[in-house]
Amino acid sequence: MGELLARTRPHHSVCVYCASSLACDAAYHDVARRLGGLLAVAGCSIVYGGGRSGSMGALAEGALAAGGRVVGIIPRFMQDLEWGHDALSELHVVEDMRTRKHEMLTRASAVVALPGGTGTLEELLEAITLKRLGLFLGPIILVNTRGYYDPLLSQLAAAIDGRFMDARHGELWTVVADPEAVLQAIETSPEWSADNRNFAVAR
Ligand code: AMP
Repeated sequence: MGELLARTRPHHSVCVYCASSLACDAAYHDVARRLGGLLAVAGCSIVYGGGRSGSMGALAEGALAAGGRVVGIIPRFMQDLEWGHDALSELHVVEDMRTRKHEMLTRASAVVALPGGTGTLEELLEAITLKRLGLFLGPIILVNTRGYYDPLLSQLAAAIDGRFMDARHGELWTVVADPEAVLQAIETSPEWSADNRNFAVAR
């Protein structure tokens, strides 16, 4: 994979990873809806997986209701199953999950992860890994609603404590408590350079 994106300010295109679940606590859907509205009002466009269920649908609806631009990237099999949101500003149908993930990140100047399942976790950890390797340089913000991400944050701390990662890798992501803190976190997150791949391997 080539260089994905240089960090740019202001952050016009924010990639959001979040849950498809309809069964999680409605508080998580509310957080997604609020984030969508806040990003739209701030003039950021949103890139996401293009789905209409759970937090994904709530995110899109929050942004669209506030007049925002929402770009969905969905794999063909999901679109064939009619899982796609039908009122987005743009919906791009791609061949497979791998292409979707690459497309989402390539279009993004910043990443936000809301609570979610394996799909969200996989996307988030790939973004962190690519940033560690200097292939994505933008802010990565975790919204730790109700402490949902505490176990993952403990695991990442264990990776640093165990020297699987460098202490400086603790700057790859920023944690906030709620969506209202996301925009400021994007603006103030530590700069990351492609040269930081020099310490991608912990020594
Ligand atoms: P999860 O957090 O496990 O619910 O997965 C959410 C992520 O997985 C999304 O960002 C999508 O990449 C994908 N995904 C899983 N289920 C769906 C669905 N029903 N519709 C659209 N995308 C989905």
